[in-house]
Amino acid sequence: MPTRRFDKIELSSAEFKELGYALIDRIADHQQNIRNKKITAGTTREALQELIRTLEIAPEEGQAPGPLLANTAQLLFEHSLFNGHPKFMAYITSSPAPLGILGDLLASAVNANVGAWILAPVATEIEKRAVQWVADFMGFPGRGGVMVSGGNMANHVCFLAAMRAQIDVDIRAKGVRGLDRQPVLYCSDQTHTWVQKSADLCGLGTDHIRWIDTDEQGRVDIALLEETIRKDFQNDYHPFLVVGTGGSVSTGVVDPLQDLATICEKYGLWFHIDGAYGALAAALPELADQFAGHGQADSIAVDPHKWLYAPLEAACALVKDPVHLTDTFSYRPPYYNFENSEMNYVDYGPQNSRGFRALKVWLSCRHLGTGGYRQLIREDIALAQYAFDLFDRLEDFEAFTQHLSITTFRYLLPIEKGTVSAADANQQLNQLNKAILNRMELEGTYFLSTAVIGDTFALRLCIVNFRTTKADLDALPEYIRQLAPRSR
Ligand SMILES: *Cc1c(COP(=O)(O)O)cnc(C)c1O
Repeated sequence: MPTRRFDKIELSSAEFKELGYALIDRIADHQQNIRNKKITAGTTREALQELIRTLEIAPEEGQAPGPLLANTAQLLFEHSLFNGHPKFMAYITSSPAPLGILGDLLASAVNANVGAWILAPVATEIEKRAVQWVADFMGFPGRGGVMVSGGNMANHVCFLAAMRAQIDVDIRAKGVRGLDRQPVLYCSDQTHTWVQKSADLCGLGTDHIRWIDTDEQGRVDIALLEETIRKDFQNDYHPFLVVGTGGSVSTGVVDPLQDLATICEKYGLWFHIDGAYGALAAALPELADQFAGHGQADSIAVDPHKWLYAPLEAACALVKDPVHLTDTFSYRPPYYNFENSEMNYVDYGPQNSRGFRALKVWLSCRHLGTGGYRQLIREDIALAQYAFDLFDRLEDFEAFTQHLSITTFRYLLPIEKGTVSAADANQQLNQLNKAILNRMELEGTYFLSTAVIGDTFALRLCIVNFRTTKADLDALPEYIRQLAPRSR
């Protein structure tokens, strides 16, 4: 038996400080200089694979931590994609709040296991407050919630809660095979792909999703939805869930939530909102009309790692009543002595051991305040509006949509009248804009993504970025012109 342990893993206090201060210096420099860097280094996949392969991973003797950390920081700062860059406007990936970065470090240091109160007393209480703050900020009257990794998981947790609440037989024990009537759910054709994963993962199968068409804005067709629900009842299916989207991933459009709430009320269905991206905008009084009805939802999924700028990962599954989560997830096995606590997060979601994701969210809320977050969200939306107007005014651009902080548009090249059909012209423009995007991803000064609108390939910018300014947008059209292939 060792009387002294192999102590290489235990850094001395002096060593820890030296390493930590040096790393913090590097991170601070990176943040300070981010505007002058490229968003992507443009390293090819082959070169990157070769680079990582040549780094010795586990020599028998190990390596000194100082150079290891320094070299790794350099590796990451030279070859990563920086979503914290002011000109990164792609997908819905936000820049990380610097205080959130420090929050993650502190959370790791405490290493709270927020599965059980007894293991994480302060952390559990902080998570409760943080989750409630998110609900209150959006004006959602729910009293239950849990933090999970991302929007997909948050939606999935709500999906399972809906099944548990709506399907009366003991679905936890018998699964979906014990059911007389087949459960079906409804969502628009713009719904994010988590819904397929959920239907699949819970054993229901994706054939049980009723995809409802959308209007030209991308909003679910309410009349069609109601007709489909009615038919399903007539044909002895079991409608149980309607999913509305509060800010679609493609164009940011918000479904008519009030109408969805009314239908769910009328037919006794669970009303879930996928607000992973957009639901936090419900905190803006000027958007109250757009989000009307969201308070009537039975559950909402929302991502603090999007519009609250938490570093990845942080999402919230929110439900009206916490009993919907415990009914779905609580088992109380004999090997845990957790009975004495009022609340253990292990009973509220699929995870057992859980990290302290709430800390970075809680810290940022307190740092920025409700007003600060409102202002940041409002500015992002105003910038997206500005971008729309900018592209709309220019002769050689066409602006398509602007909802929340997402704007879609494309670059036009003059096509001689009468030389090609309208469909061919559209095809040519699709090719052109695809080529522009591909070049942009390699070049790395700006980073956008795409939206497919009908049969049109559009460029898409989504501003969930507290560093983006008007000047970053002003320079974008000329940059795109420069990137456009000269001849087709
Ligand atoms: C981002 C997003 C998701 C998925 O969330 P992740 O955090 O990426 O898992 C789901 N739905 C919508 C509307 C989103 O914007």
